[in-house]
Amino acid sequence: MSSQRNMAALTLVGARLVDPAGGFAAAADLCVEQGKIKWIKPPGSPPAGEVVPVGGLIICPGLIDMHVHLREPGFEHKETIASGTQAAVAGGFTTVCAMPNTAPVIDRPERVARLQQRIAQTAQCNVKILGAATIDNQRRQLADFPALLAAGCVGITDDAASLQSDQQMRAALQQLHSTEALFLTHLEAEQLSGAGVVNQGKVSERLGVAGQDCRSEVAALRQWAQVAEGLESRLHLLHLNTAAGVKYLRELQTEGHFRALTAETAPHYFCLTEEAVLEFGADAKMNPPLRTEADRQALKQAVIDGTIQVIATDHAPHTADEKAQGLVEAPFGVVGLETCLALVLTHLVHTNELSLSKTLAKMTCNPARLLNLPGGTLEPGSPADITIVDPNKYWTIDPEQFYSQGRNTPFAGASVRGQVWGTIVAGRFAKREGELLAVQNQP
Ligand SMILES: [Zn+2]
Repeated sequence: MSSQRNMAALTLVGARLVDPAGGFAAAADLCVEQGKIKWIKPPGSPPAGEVVPVGGLIICPGLIDMHVHLREPGFEHKETIASGTQAAVAGGFTTVCAMPNTAPVIDRPERVARLQQRIAQTAQCNVKILGAATIDNQRRQLADFPALLAAGCVGITDDAASLQSDQQMRAALQQLHSTEALFLTHLEAEQLSGAGVVNQGKVSERLGVAGQDCRSEVAALRQWAQVAEGLESRLHLLHLNTAAGVKYLRELQTEGHFRALTAETAPHYFCLTEEAVLEFGADAKMNPPLRTEADRQALKQAVIDGTIQVIATDHAPHTADEKAQGLVEAPFGVVGLETCLALVLTHLVHTNELSLSKTLAKMTCNPARLLNLPGGTLEPGSPADITIVDPNKYWTIDPEQFYSQGRNTPFAGASVRGQVWGTIVAGRFAKREGELLAVQNQP
């Protein structure tokens, strides 16, 4: 994506600004110029450039999603960088981090460079790249992490091919020891999750399908904690989903067992339970799976009390045909970019369980700090990546309206409150008054 465009100034007038990074929440006008935030002034200050009236709306830093499967290269029938970043912009995201389990896998610097080229040509928002932990995701040989980071990767992850051996886990942490980069791990002890397609319990029994033992998550975390002993590592846990995982995470955080131990969860884990599989079938199948009501409540509590610092989508598009193969055969994953903000507002903010600022922190400054990304703040001088939200707009989720090629969501038909009005990327509207505007890319 080029930032060499849209130099003209514009001033957003009449909104309430919420910037969790600076602890700022008040009515104010905000001016953008040359792709950067130029100033924030009291309402009614003389504007510069184009005046954009946004009364009654919320302005916040552009949302950041650190867990997105854009599917390109290799799976363009599911999603492309173009369609995935359109979905991102539609959902208010100005930066997404692309997971490396593509074909080829993003496991070496040449592939990072090729992907960066493709991003420059077609992305509609900022895309950062996460590098793969093992060569071809085969778990035989670790990738060269420092080389991937030098090529521009913002972190290393084993998502889609989670490390199982003590030796590889330790070697992975050691490779990152002298860096500030994060290892992002998918917690799954495969001897427990086995061939399970949903949570092991009531629903798997009723449907007569194999289930994943809910102890898988905590077992994997226990293994990481053991191998990390004395290594002073920074570890980030992807898509936390069990009450036991949350409880053990709190213990490890209290003990200071790691230099930093952070976690994310996705809206589906604190909005839904395994029961959703009965209604939505394969469109509610993801890995890790939806769990029980007790798990859902524990996840939500962990988001509220700060045990979990990040809300990410794990946006994982598949085609309708792939998902139509039935619960056992269909691939894991649900889309999330276009529903995340509304779900979070509906289930955390409008229920008065978490303040808007603390909620938005988990989708702006927290992921920015963890991955050392630009943005995540409205501080003057920062990139003009901005999301404008109508917090009270009621709407019904309709997958047919998605910009993502994926329609696989267990939230079809859900009533939600809060909608993205506009998305500004590098000083330019990519979405305005609810409509997407094409971003001009490098030739
Ligand atoms: Zn994932």
